Amino acid sequence: MTQCPLCNEGKLKKGKIKETMFGVVLGEFPAEICNKCNESFTDELTTHLIELVARKKRIWGLGTKTRLAKTGNSLAVRIPRNIVKYLKLKEGKELFIHPQDNKVIIEPM
Ligand SMILES: [Zn+2]
Repeated sequence: MTQCPLCNEGKLKKGKIKETMFGVVLGEFPAEICNKCNESFTDELTTHLIELVARKKRIWGLGTKTRLAKTGNSLAVRIPRNIVKYLKLKEGKELFIHPQDNKVIIEPM
């Protein structure tokens, strides 16, 4: 058995992982899972397959950087076009915004 390259303590065992991206379930994929730190590793082919499924579900590349812009006394978040399209957002749409730990959560209402 292969030693875990992350913790260097555990051994890798063949198993299955449930892969999700942005809360969307992509499915179960074969992986090698560390019996100590629980980190999972997928081979090149599986990694490519996960990307293909994410592309098919149109969520690949939805996570991106954005920058705050000053507007009056507030800061405005620019939501990238692909997220606007994915969530079918429209100008004037009401959103609920709140902090959570060190994050800002923005939810369409
Ligand atoms: Zn490990």
